[in-house]
Amino acid sequence: MTITVKCKLDLAEEQREAIDKTMEAFASACNDALDIGREVGTASNVKIHDRCYYDLRKDHDLPANLAVRAIARAAGILKDSDRKDSTVRPSSIDYDGRTFSFKEHDWSISLSTVEGRQKPIALDIGDYQKDLLSGRDPSSAVVFRKRINGEVTYYVGIHIDVEEPPPDLGEEHGWVGVDLGVENLATLDDGTQFAGDDVNRIRDRYNRTRASLQSKGTKGAKRVLRRLSGRERRFQKSVNHRISKRIVEKARSEEKGIRLEDLSGIRDRIRGSYKLHSWAFAQLRNFVEYKAAIAGVPVEIVDPAYTSRTCPVCGHEEKENRKKQTEFECQSCGHKENADVVGARNVARGAVCQPAQK
Ligand SMILES: [Zn+2]
Repeated sequence: MTITVKCKLDLAEEQREAIDKTMEAFASACNDALDIGREVGTASNVKIHDRCYYDLRKDHDLPANLAVRAIARAAGILKDSDRKDSTVRPSSIDYDGRTFSFKEHDWSISLSTVEGRQKPIALDIGDYQKDLLSGRDPSSAVVFRKRINGEVTYYVGIHIDVEEPPPDLGEEHGWVGVDLGVENLATLDDGTQFAGDDVNRIRDRYNRTRASLQSKGTKGAKRVLRRLSGRERRFQKSVNHRISKRIVEKARSEEKGIRLEDLSGIRDRIRGSYKLHSWAFAQLRNFVEYKAAIAGVPVEIVDPAYTSRTCPVCGHEEKENRKKQTEFECQSCGHKENADVVGARNVARGAVCQPAQK
């Protein structure tokens, strides 16, 4: 299985110019190759290659393997009935092992362009991408640019092969349902709970220290504050790594997929200072998603509406089912259970609102 790791590029001015020019050249080459394919009436990579490879290189000043990629892109478009009449805009370039390389020691890439090889190009990435790329030797990538709020940002999507074969899921495989919370960071539908005690205790301690430091407002206090929040983040992160690993291992060994609730559910439930920390839940979900992708375990995101107050036994939905934060009691059939476990069971059965992985 191949997954794509999206990384922001930190480009020097001349690197950006070289990539811009290469995007123009690559798109023009794709469009020429599309024209040839349509003229001849073929979507065959080989046939288009035979007719225009040398012209594409000459006309657009393209390195050999970028011409090869442009032809492959054109052939792919011609084979796709939804896109066969479209043209290519200058906003992306396809790279292979000859025209692209990745260096882990300084988290950089090098790219062939019409202005020569550009290296090192720094990746502006966090631990999430580093985890995925570490120890890998990727041999293909797509460089693209996006305009967001008037500003153009450049990315590389690096393709990595994930060696683990997916578990042998049958048609009707089951799901591990995950409920996220504050008291229990994660609760599974079989009743497994990952307590939030440690994280909450440390967070409370930091919050108190933070409050007293903020009231001082000195330079030294600000420095300590930054260090505290760094430590808190690192601690939370290691907890999230541990929990996500266990969830994915469990799903894989039981040959199940994973269902998580959409994060809007938890944002509505949590209160006060915990709201500030909703990044922690987003991180936990990210970790589950990428570890699951590596393990070949499918992940679905479930609409959280009513997951906390619907009876998993009889389906009765009522606010009164959840009189207390921690206890669930069905007003119709009398079923009693820990409220987080009820949430997880409902997520496991869940109404799916969107696929997590494309
Ligand atoms: Zn019931």
